Amino acid sequence: MNGAAGDPVRGAQLAANLARVEERIADACATAGRDRKEVTLIVVTKTYPATDVRLLAGLGVREVAENRDQEAGPKAEATADLPLSWHFVGQLQTNKARSVVRYADHVHSVDRLRLVGALSSAATAAGRRIGCLVQVALDAESGDRGERGGVAPDAVPALADALASAPGLRLDGLMTVAPLSGAYAGQPRAAFDRLMEISSRLRETHPAATMVSAGMSQDLDEAVTAGATHVRVGTAVLGVRPGLR
Ligand SMILES: *Cc1c(COP(=O)(O)O)cnc(C)c1O
Repeated sequence: MNGAAGDPVRGAQLAANLARVEERIADACATAGRDRKEVTLIVVTKTYPATDVRLLAGLGVREVAENRDQEAGPKAEATADLPLSWHFVGQLQTNKARSVVRYADHVHSVDRLRLVGALSSAATAAGRRIGCLVQVALDAESGDRGERGGVAPDAVPALADALASAPGLRLDGLMTVAPLSGAYAGQPRAAFDRLMEISSRLRETHPAATMVSAGMSQDLDEAVTAGATHVRVGTAVLGVRPGLR
């Protein structure tokens, strides 16, 4: 039976996984001399059903993320009765902006001016204010975008300024995915240190842009040690995704 309380076996599995992730975050905070409260766990529920989101909410999870609008929209709708905040973390087409601003409180993947414009119009029309993060591609060359989205570090200031002055949007900080290629490949700690430098620079002109979204299942420890404020964890909580995305 799969009633309102959900599958108890799956619930126990998610609880155990969450406890292990929680322990990793706490250990990394202790190592870095940080307060555990400085780090927010965002559970990435992509490819997993709304029933899992419901179980996670029952276990105290409040922040969840998705990377595709087609999947996120229906899932957010199916769990609209729960006290959840949704984060959009995937590459975003401008024609999806109107849909995303309906359920997402944060978009972590802003990487071009056209997207700022689309999100701003959509948020204004929906009467919403969306927290936005500039996605930084640490493996992108000057002026380029990375393969997994994101802009080269030298493009961050212009995008940040655009976000900060866009109606309906709020500049909240920066996001990155540890690069698989380039100088930072296999060096998540160095990558996250670099992101922290870019974040410090950003906060000189935008002091409220304090979010640093970095770290996934494999490298959340390094991200927390470096100073991340938000970690985005999928696999370590929900299990290995079929097809690995
Ligand atoms: C899928 C995804 C995650 C979570 O990755 P895991 O390795 O499963 O923890 C984090 N961030 C983004 C942008 C993602 O697409």
